[in-house]
Amino acid sequence: MSKKHSFVKIKCPKCKKDAELTRDFSSVKCNFCGFDRSYGEYVKFIAHNELKYSDILGDYTGSTEGHTSGSLDEWD
Ligand SMILES: [Zn+2]
Repeated sequence: MSKKHSFVKIKCPKCKKDAELTRDFSSVKCNFCGFDRSYGEYVKFIAHNELKYSDILGDYTGSTEGHTSGSLDEWD
């Protein structure tokens, strides 16, 4: 068996299961939810999701900005 895998397993951005990225980075395909995009579109999809997360993080850090670190467990 000398045949190499032509896909790399990556996480599907849509259903979070195993999707397949072609070795030449040309396309991403998920057999579970049918996600089938070019790699460029896949990256955009991820970036879009990341943006949503960073919005949440932004709100979180914003709300704790007034706190000092002194109230946390002491490190020494
Ligand atoms: Zn999927």
